[in-house]
Amino acid sequence: MVATRFAPSPNGMLHLGHAWSAIVAHDLAKDRGGRFLLRVEDIDGARSKPELPDAFRRDLEWLGLEWEEVPAQSTRLANYEAAAKELQDAGLLYPCTCTRSEIAALKPRTGPEGLVYPGTCKGKSVDGGKPAALRLDVEKAMARVGEIVWEDEIAGTQVADPRPFGDVVLVRKEEPASYHLAATLDDAADGVTLVTRGADLFTSTHIHRVLQALLQLPVPIWHHHKLLLDETGEKLAKRRESPSLADLRGAGADGRKLADNLRCGNLPAGISLFE
Ligand code: GLU
Ligand code: ZN
Repeated sequence: MVATRFAPSPNGMLHLGHAWSAIVAHDLAKDRGGRFLLRVEDIDGARSKPELPDAFRRDLEWLGLEWEEVPAQSTRLANYEAAAKELQDAGLLYPCTCTRSEIAALKPRTGPEGLVYPGTCKGKSVDGGKPAALRLDVEKAMARVGEIVWEDEIAGTQVADPRPFGDVVLVRKEEPASYHLAATLDDAADGVTLVTRGADLFTSTHIHRVLQALLQLPVPIWHHHKLLLDETGEKLAKRRESPSLADLRGAGADGRKLADNLRCGNLPAGISLFE
């Protein structure tokens, strides 16, 4: 049975872009007689606001969606720690004590997620007193997994190549997992068969596919959907001043009607859909 998910991070209210993402995942599951899951991605303890998940549930209800909720990331830390240990025991992770500004000072190249870590700490013994993140040695990882592919329902078959990201952080200094590790493990644990999310996360899938191979996790199919953009071309979900779903709900707007309008491409003025 197909299972899709909507996985918002509770560090800001949901906007129209999130509504679109939830509707796409919901409809893909329902059209195929499958399950639509809600997962609260609160791995970032410092930025997560405890009152937001409840607002998210009210937003989804207001949009007329039905979902099954799976455990939030903050309840799954032991699972992340076990996977990180497995990768570390396999010699695929190395500690890094660099700060953001130290990395920026090295003027490294820019990749899909901003500055690409130039590997300063690789192969060095680190100062045990300093907080350290754990990074994936991407060259070693690729040598281990060989050529692997992944399937996007829209874009077709992709050869996994996470090298443009460099040695990504899998365990953060202050958290037992980064988004990449946590989301990959959760999708496997939740039985997600169709990972549905915005096209802005397309390239991250290269990392996730390699992690699946390293950790012998089941391999889903992906569906990276088009994004709602405003007139300046900015992703709606990121624009702080656009009204949140909670604002629209509070102002008495009809959420089901909004959802139906989005479904048939009837977009509010100044908003467009882009790959
Ligand atoms: N938690 C992520 C976000 O809110 C979504 C991650 C995903 O769908 O894989 O941007
Ligand atoms: Zn470092």
